Amino acid sequence: MNLGPVPQVVAARPRPRQPRRRGRRILAGPATGRPGPPKVALIPACIGRIIGQWAVASAEVHDMKVGFIGLGNMGAGMATNLLRAGHEMTVFNRNAEKRRPLIDLGARAAETVAQACTGEVVITMLADDSALRRVALGEDGIVDKLRQGATHISMSTVSVELTRDLTQAHEQAGQRFVAAPVFGRPEMAAAAKLYIVVAGAPAAIEFCQPLFAAMGQRTFPFGTEPAAASLVKLAGNFMIAATIETLGEALSLVGKGGIEPGTFVELLTSTLFPAPAYRIYGALISQSEFRPAGFAAPLGHKDVRLLLAAAESLRVPMPIGSLLNDRFLRLLAQGGESLDWSAISQLAAADAGLPRIGRS
Ligand code: NAP
Repeated sequence: MNLGPVPQVVAARPRPRQPRRRGRRILAGPATGRPGPPKVALIPACIGRIIGQWAVASAEVHDMKVGFIGLGNMGAGMATNLLRAGHEMTVFNRNAEKRRPLIDLGARAAETVAQACTGEVVITMLADDSALRRVALGEDGIVDKLRQGATHISMSTVSVELTRDLTQAHEQAGQRFVAAPVFGRPEMAAAAKLYIVVAGAPAAIEFCQPLFAAMGQRTFPFGTEPAAASLVKLAGNFMIAATIETLGEALSLVGKGGIEPGTFVELLTSTLFPAPAYRIYGALISQSEFRPAGFAAPLGHKDVRLLLAAAESLRVPMPIGSLLNDRFLRLLAQGGESLDWSAISQLAAADAGLPRIGRS
């Protein structure tokens, strides 16, 4: 499996968020992939060039016609932020009820996937490979319905393999495809604070940047091959899941020894481990807060399975990944479907003979 050249991590400049008027339109030059207005062709070349440069620079504030598919824990907040940023939104969700809050804020309702594919961009934030494969590659799906030159931004966490299939299908259909999975839980999605990992053609990424700026605090480009973004996202989630497992084991140890887990977490996150993953999951685990699930256990298991598939394909042994797979299997086998993925930490407590972390 060749992912192309080693991606360079170049953090994009965070862009200031500006209030936008709905429906505002600007000229868009060829660099945006959109047809320029006829006036540009009728004026001298030097002025046309100046207008062209202005159009490229102004692409940042262009309000786009965007379809959004998948209004779950993450997608609801992301679509809301795009709407608030002034983009013209059409929203689709399998369970149509979830469209209601967006419609109340001014979004159009799509009754079918096809109706969400009439704009210049369609964004997907679906649960897993099977949902995205059906929505994008199925009959009357995105590839069938999106017009040539329009862009599909795939923001779900999905397999490297599916990301490749989508890259190829969109290319054959004359459409653009950008993979842009995210780091950050639903609270960060709602607050437009996501970290977005992007890969795809540079012009397509540049074109999508205003949308990323409306949903996230920072965008990290990982080259031109969309599959690279999926691999990076899976590797990152592996590290978070491993953090959850080590927190579960360490907190079970100190808890069984009579130490208050919250105090232990406070020490570690104030000194050697001040990272968000330790702070967020240290708090959830020490307080045993696994409902409602911000990131549900079946999705966590899905990510570990996709990680192991990528690792197998690249022939990279990941023994901790295998251990995590067993942890998730056990949690799900014991009825943990509706719990947050950080509930795997409780399995370490059970191994130690504790009813749960923090309770002896
Ligand atoms: P979620 O709340 O379970 O939402 C999943 C969405 O996918 C819903 O809109 C659901 O529609 C839709 N869906 C599921 N199966 C479908 C199918 N067969 N056909 C059509 N639509 C289907 O999940 P989430 O937490 O928002 O996560 C979405 C994606 O982001 C996942 O890939 C996840 O791994 C990733 N992610 C999540 C987090 C997090 O903290 N939650 C963080 C980063 C990345 P219904 O409403 O009809 O069920």
